[in-house]
Amino acid sequence: MLDALGRTIDYLRVSVTDRCNLRCIYCMPSSGVEWKPHETILSFEETLRIVRLLAELGVRNIKITGGEPLVRKGVAGFIRTLRNIPGIAGITLTTNGILLDRYLDALRDGGIHGVNISLDALDPQVFHRITRRRGLAAIFQGMDRALASGIRVKINCVPLRGVNDRHLIPLASLAEQRPIAVRFIELMPLGAGEGLEPVPGAQVKALLEERFGPLRELPPGEARSAGNGPARYYAVPGFTGTIGLINPISDGFCETCNRLRLSAEGVLKPCLAHDLGLDLRSLIRSGASDRETLRAMTALIAQKPKGHTFAAPLERAVRQGMYTIGG
Ligand code: SAM
Ligand code: SF4
Repeated sequence: MLDALGRTIDYLRVSVTDRCNLRCIYCMPSSGVEWKPHETILSFEETLRIVRLLAELGVRNIKITGGEPLVRKGVAGFIRTLRNIPGIAGITLTTNGILLDRYLDALRDGGIHGVNISLDALDPQVFHRITRRRGLAAIFQGMDRALASGIRVKINCVPLRGVNDRHLIPLASLAEQRPIAVRFIELMPLGAGEGLEPVPGAQVKALLEERFGPLRELPPGEARSAGNGPARYYAVPGFTGTIGLINPISDGFCETCNRLRLSAEGVLKPCLAHDLGLDLRSLIRSGASDRETLRAMTALIAQKPKGHTFAAPLERAVRQGMYTIGG
């Protein structure tokens, strides 16, 4: 469907949990995280019903996220059932990769189309400084086995000034021999990310060009890795894969935003940066019919804000980390 500004809304990010086995410094506090009680988290059946209704309204592609989606039991089976919803064309997963190897066969059999692996450094000490945990070897195993299984792989890195900004070249080099997209995402001032310093995408590009030569921007049709998001993709001389830049702060792309988010607790949000949301858990648990739920969803989508407000004081919901919003 179209929102009030004429944007096509066809992409939904579904968070299946707020829990995580890492504690990335830009997303979560180091300790004292209070997980949401189980009964407040949507059951898979409830989520399926919501996705089915949103598919009726035009949602075509889904990204499973969290928290860390692979810590929730049964997620691969859930993906298989999502695939059967009429209208759903593509299902991908974003993961920190720690459990990817363990669940890869089930994900492949469940029909996953692609995985995005969040990986901010290849140096074990820098990796530990960012995630406050260990696990690089497991991530590599998962990544290479996903590729061997024919699953499309993208790597997502958030460059942080003074933390991993001197470690971006080895990450980019992962795309030299592998058919993957390595994407650099500007830090957003959400939750724990608020006190850290981003590296603007233009600086990341300059740094990569200094090392690899000029990056050639690929037209969207030519970028094999193009998905549903706002990344710009670049070819690098001698690379099998590509480099992607996602610049939510310096290259605002709100005017073409096609996405909705469903939090693990069942709040449907039309924009990451605004408090606006529809409490679908309460609505469906109070016995609302499909028709009533569709009407409420349609009214919410019509109110999708024009853009983010990261330059202004943050709204209440935005002070939470991405793991609660469904990053
Ligand atoms: N745990 C999974 C993962 O790390 O991919 C899925 C959830 S995570 C919240 C989704 C994405 O949000 C990750 O790629 C992470 O790097 C990104 N993210 C989290 N906090 C962020 C922030 N403040 N700014 C930009 N990206 C952020
Ligand atoms: Fe966990 Fe992903 Fe947040 Fe890191 S970015 S703490 S892996 S939810």
